[in-house]
Amino acid sequence: MLDTTYTAPAPKIIAGAKHDWELVIGLEVHAQVSSKAKLFSGASTKFGNEPNSNVAFVDAAMPGMLPVINEYCVEQAVRTGLGLKADINLYSAFDRKNYFYPDLPQGYQISQLYHPIVGEGEILVEMGEGIARVVRVERIHLEQDAGKSIHDMDPNMSFVDLNRTGVALMEIVSRPDIRGPEEAAAYVTKLRQILRYLGTCDGNMQNGNLRADVNVSVCRAGQYEKYMETQDFDHLGTRCEIKNMNSMRFMQAAIDFEARRQIAILEDGGEVHQETRLYDPDKNETRSMRSKEEAHDYRYFPCPDLLPLEIEQAWVDDIAASLPELPDDKKSRFINDFDMSDYDASVLTADVATAHYFEEVIEASEPDTISGKMAANWIVNVLFSYLKKDNLSITDCPVTPNQLASQIQLELSGEINGKIAKDLFEIVYTEGGDPAEIVENRGMKQVTDTGAIEAAVDEIMAANPAQVEKAKQNPKLAGWFVGQVMKATGGKANPKAVNQIIAAKLKG
Ligand code: ADP
Ligand code: MG
Repeated sequence: MLDTTYTAPAPKIIAGAKHDWELVIGLEVHAQVSSKAKLFSGASTKFGNEPNSNVAFVDAAMPGMLPVINEYCVEQAVRTGLGLKADINLYSAFDRKNYFYPDLPQGYQISQLYHPIVGEGEILVEMGEGIARVVRVERIHLEQDAGKSIHDMDPNMSFVDLNRTGVALMEIVSRPDIRGPEEAAAYVTKLRQILRYLGTCDGNMQNGNLRADVNVSVCRAGQYEKYMETQDFDHLGTRCEIKNMNSMRFMQAAIDFEARRQIAILEDGGEVHQETRLYDPDKNETRSMRSKEEAHDYRYFPCPDLLPLEIEQAWVDDIAASLPELPDDKKSRFINDFDMSDYDASVLTADVATAHYFEEVIEASEPDTISGKMAANWIVNVLFSYLKKDNLSITDCPVTPNQLASQIQLELSGEINGKIAKDLFEIVYTEGGDPAEIVENRGMKQVTDTGAIEAAVDEIMAANPAQVEKAKQNPKLAGWFVGQVMKATGGKANPKAVNQIIAAKLKG
């Protein structure tokens, strides 16, 4: 049974502080919608193309150009909302958020302030085996991304690349329900996992396709509980927002620094001012970027170029019907159906490709032969260490699920022993081929013929009379003979039979 009552321990950051403080965090995650075309134009979203080659007239804000909504991006946002168990708003609308930015040619960003497409949802954030917290999602809205200014190519000039301008983003806004740096990382990890399962965002943080604005505040112990009871923000401290974090590690370091900074100010009798800050990984500190702007500073107003977005429940239902099995469900199914540990189930469902690999191994095997545990062991303990060594992902894995299934079955049926199974895996991994044929052609079959094993034992004992005498006195030395017999049979002897025969001979 999952314990969802967990609250992060009072953050360690209060060491040295006079009072008990609690940390409160809310995240605004910007997730790039997986779509071939932009939100309001047909220009490509392909990453790494020649600068300014993915730009339609409307992206460059040419006079007279009008935005046209990309239905697929809307579908992706709805799919994401459904994946987060959220309310889908059949009526939503786009607003202009006005600000100047050199890489935003329109002079405004088209976003959804007043009527977002997705309302309240939730994310189950796992904090350890059997422990989880529900973090509430406040809303998801669709908006345009800006382009990129490049300042480091020339000492005297800046450049602008509009390839990203107008690409669809989903802004996924959490409630301030996150209680520590580890929880923040666990939240982003879980959100990214769900988005990848849904196929609505590739979650690539390095390319900036998933990035988070992190809101941090601190309050005296007990205040958060009051906020939860009343939903009154007055119980919480003033927050600062750290912009654009695209690394889990830096995000945690930034939260930690920011909490210490705020506590120091408050304990010194000062006040925290609401502002936007930037994290500097080199110095491990956050710095003020600008004082916090309010919604009215942006002069939001409904975008006159776009009609309100009205979608039909039947369409939403169709999307709901096509949702894949999501991580939480898959994990509990693996635990229940395959008698798997929580740990193995978490590892196997961490990404959808691994989960599918596992499922294909089970599917490829004869019914009721390979246990889930056995397949999980091979994947988690053996296959992953090979992939890690070669820096490969499961999608580039040279061993197909079919090959792994047939290799496990060869071991299960006793055709090969456990040691040879490891050798066989190495061959299949490096050279490929049908495991059964490899075993046949290379004579790797387990020797269970006790006559043959006995002959090998006799031969070794005859050649080593002194060892035999010693082992008769001290049965622990029998292991030496086991090793010799295994060596003599090329590792193929049935270890159980070898042990039995040697024990019997030493007794006699
Ligand atoms: P804005 O768009 O101006 O940044 P929002 O209302 O969209 O403001 O909220 C931004 C984020 O700030 C949300 O994720 C919310 O959970 C979080 N937040 C609000 N109050 C606090 C607080 N006191 N401490 C930490 N996070 C907060
Ligand atoms: Mg914000």
